[in-house]
Amino acid sequence: MTPETPGAKPAARRSKAKPLPATPPHDPELPLARLGWIRRPQLTALEKLGITTLRDLLEHYPRRHEDRRRFDHFPDAEGEQTYCLSGIVGKTVFRRFGRMRSFEAQFQEATDSPLSPVITLRWFNLFHVQKSVLTGSRLIVHGRVRLRGKRLCMEHPEFEIVTEEDRESIHLDRVVPVHPAGDGISVRVIRGIIHRALAECGWASWSDPLAKRKVDWGKALRSIHFPVEPEEIEPARRELALRELLGIQTLVTIRRQAVLRPRGSPKKVTGALLGHCLNALPFTPTAAQTRAIAAIRADMERSHRMHRLLQGDVGSGKTLVAAASMLLSLEAGHRAVLMAPTQILAEQHFRTFESWFAPLGIPVTLVTSSIRKSSASRGDRVGAVIGTHALLHDDSILEGAGLVVIDEQHKFGVLQRARLTTLPSAPDVLVMTATPIPRTLAQTLYGDLDFSILDERPPGRGVLRTAARGLEKLPEIITYMRERLEKGRQAYVVYPLVEQSEKLSAKAAEEEIAIWKERLSPIPCALLHGKMKAAEKESVMEAFRSRKIRVLVTTSVIEVGVDVPNATLLLVENAERFGLAQLHQLRGRIGRGEHASTCVLLEGSGSPVALERLRILERSNDGFVIAEEDLRLRGAGDILGTEQSGLPPLRLADLHRDADLLAVASAEAARILHQDPMLELPSHARLRQLREANSDLLRGAD
Ligand code: ADP
Ligand code: MG
Repeated sequence: MTPETPGAKPAARRSKAKPLPATPPHDPELPLARLGWIRRPQLTALEKLGITTLRDLLEHYPRRHEDRRRFDHFPDAEGEQTYCLSGIVGKTVFRRFGRMRSFEAQFQEATDSPLSPVITLRWFNLFHVQKSVLTGSRLIVHGRVRLRGKRLCMEHPEFEIVTEEDRESIHLDRVVPVHPAGDGISVRVIRGIIHRALAECGWASWSDPLAKRKVDWGKALRSIHFPVEPEEIEPARRELALRELLGIQTLVTIRRQAVLRPRGSPKKVTGALLGHCLNALPFTPTAAQTRAIAAIRADMERSHRMHRLLQGDVGSGKTLVAAASMLLSLEAGHRAVLMAPTQILAEQHFRTFESWFAPLGIPVTLVTSSIRKSSASRGDRVGAVIGTHALLHDDSILEGAGLVVIDEQHKFGVLQRARLTTLPSAPDVLVMTATPIPRTLAQTLYGDLDFSILDERPPGRGVLRTAARGLEKLPEIITYMRERLEKGRQAYVVYPLVEQSEKLSAKAAEEEIAIWKERLSPIPCALLHGKMKAAEKESVMEAFRSRKIRVLVTTSVIEVGVDVPNATLLLVENAERFGLAQLHQLRGRIGRGEHASTCVLLEGSGSPVALERLRILERSNDGFVIAEEDLRLRGAGDILGTEQSGLPPLRLADLHRDADLLAVASAEAARILHQDPMLELPSHARLRQLREANSDLLRGAD
């Protein structure tokens, strides 16, 4: 490596650079380095932001815009509003308290008025600020104003230093975009680079699959980055959002076409096995269960395979619907497989299915990574198989399957689901979930599935009450629990344990169990967490089911599926650390029997805001309402997690706000794929590229 002074680099590069091409660079995938005018350190900094191609750069959308033709007046009181202020830096002070350093600058409006308030700008432990913010600097700042002692302060405001030349530039006297910046690259520099790229690169020739829209893509792109008027921004955002959604809907549509491919012959069944099973049940199916089963049966009799999502709130009785569909498949002579996300749940299903299927002479096999047990005798070919992820690696079981049921499907990744749906034997697929997915999201993520909804609770359930309380109420809560436990009920105490530091959390759990044993003595308590050995977990669950253990101190391992109707108490510690939808899932562990149930959400941080959020669960027991609320509070990204959705990111589209666009995108995707199934037209280049980038997800599409 030859040491080089940073200043020498651009010159050296310039001499080597090829002469400018006659036509401007227009390839969206052009590496930014090839543009020739972005400096090396900036390229590196951009790369850290995930920006390496021309397209990445132009799709690096602003976080917000500032109308720098007029600024806010300097406020004279604190408040929640954010201000965008322009002014001059007066005195600056640097202070040091032990390891803490602070830098303060007096900031004043650039008028002669002596009445104009002074705002103190303050930064802690940020060295680069004091190097650039100097007395006399002209600054634009953005932030909230707080009263600190007697002074009005802005702490860690976003700021930009401006100069007189900026009047002729893109940084002042206009609506200015504020793009996300990063280490080694400022908002100002990014703004400059994007502006130059928009001016010099031939992006206008990029294909727009939605050319007929009123606002075309190119105009929207220009407006989102450098609008002339603020009113342009929102329509532009929606146009670009629509194209993002179009990408997703195209993938979903391709997938749908792939999974719905025809199968050899429809499954003809009399429903005799199912009839026997239902007759033997101690209860009658709810109307919703009956409807779902009928829909599944109709699917099986079609000439293309079934691909159905069964959504039903916790406790709505999805397991019975799974069993019914498995019986239909078994009667047609095919193996039926059910996959569950946890070992505890797989074992529970194994137990349930054995009790339902044994009288019908159907063998049931359990397959987890550590256990394999079966009621099948040698020579039994067809039967039901229940298992965990371990099933995904067992081709001998999957290959011959005529039906695959995925329980709590949101706990599996899209790729894992794809693995099952793209098996060569093309089994029917039923995916079940208790996490009520807001309808807008469901359409996006599961647009390739038919829907059944269990919107009815089985009868005969006791009432379920939920209370969100602060820590100070714990003694009363313990007294109440004791009373109920002494009447014969059982309880879960749930801790939020962080997966990454499992060692630490296991220790915390050990300490907690000791405390609970003492608090509730002599009532028998036991610990159950994800890191215990499989056999250990099973023996604890067995003891809990048989009521030898009355209190389970546990983690979110019980979140999904666990069904012990005599458990009527649920105490969630540090409930503020869970998402609302997850708490609703946890709450589904109780309220399953005839007795009244109580769920207590203990707020451990002392924050009134957190307690208020938990109160949403006090008010509603409807998973859909809660899911919508969660979506509103946290945004879709958080709920889905990129890993789970496996879809390209949505930068501008907001599934909540833009729900109407989803329908447009879906119709456009269908139109495009009808007109150009292989996406060969130039205007579909972007969509073709998306399809190629997601071929994993779409395997089986050809
Ligand atoms: P989930 O939808 O959460 O998976 P489960 O399938 O575990 O719910 O069912 C919850 C409980 O309700 C189980 O104990 C099950 O046996 C019972 N159950 C299911 N369907 C009915 C019904 N139609 N009537 C009465 N109880 C039912
Ligand atoms: Mg279930």
